[in-house]
Amino acid sequence: MILSINFELVREILVKSLTTHFIRYTLAAGIMFSIFYLWKRRAWFYKKIQLRTPQKAKIKHEIFWSVISLIIISVCGTISFYFVKQGYSPLYTDIAERGWLYLGLSTVGLIVWHDFYFYVTHRAMHHKAIFPIVHKIHHKSTDPTPWAAFSFHPIEAVVQFLFVPMAVFVVPLHPIALLTMGLFQITLNVIGHLGFEIFPKGFTTGRLTKWANTSTHHNMHHSKVNCNYGLYFNIWDRLLGTNHKDYEKTFDEVKARTPDTEDKLAEKGLVKGAPKKEKQEPELV
Ligand SMILES: [Zn+2]
Ligand SMILES: [Zn+2]
Repeated sequence: MILSINFELVREILVKSLTTHFIRYTLAAGIMFSIFYLWKRRAWFYKKIQLRTPQKAKIKHEIFWSVISLIIISVCGTISFYFVKQGYSPLYTDIAERGWLYLGLSTVGLIVWHDFYFYVTHRAMHHKAIFPIVHKIHHKSTDPTPWAAFSFHPIEAVVQFLFVPMAVFVVPLHPIALLTMGLFQITLNVIGHLGFEIFPKGFTTGRLTKWANTSTHHNMHHSKVNCNYGLYFNIWDRLLGTNHKDYEKTFDEVKARTPDTEDKLAEKGLVKGAPKKEKQEPELV
């Protein structure tokens, strides 16, 4: 079988995979970073979950390991998709074959499956025998920026990719389901590492919304470490008691801030490395 590998097809899939992953990461992380950390850096600083400015060295670390991970994920994706193209998966391309309802349900199912897979593998990554070797790279960012979205050790990148073939080679999926899941994943991943809370007040206590994760939730995972393991939903952390006890309190505190809060917290020494404020002209009496 080795001799019959179609290298032209492999090259074609690899180029497409690398291009898609890099464009998606650069656009999603780049746009959010430009808005929150460059354009609105001073004006929105008081809204930052952790009132500090991330170090340049940490951002370089996040980009470096994300690039490595995206190359690994693209290679793994190429191998999987090569076998899909050879007819080893039940993937289908005609929506009429299974209908729109199936397409919708399979897309939601794929997202729910990824959320569960991530929770289980992420908790495993926090095992004391695995954490220092593998997952520590992701936790080097104690105050993450959107660039940390794929900042993984190569082993973690492979583990995080495996949920795809575990679905694609088992369940009939349409490429639209995979595409939607991919866009959902990058969006929520970047929001989780944003460092700013974009969900509205009351989100963590709403009857339905409390089951979804927030930026504060994953930000606390980076600052407090052994809590808040979930990805998209707050289902497994709630059911298994792994939400940080101060999660809702922290979310409310961040959402209650006003521009004046920054000065009050600065007086208490709780603000580190705030961007310089522009000098205000004295008011004319
Ligand atoms: Zn972790
Ligand atoms: Zn993270």
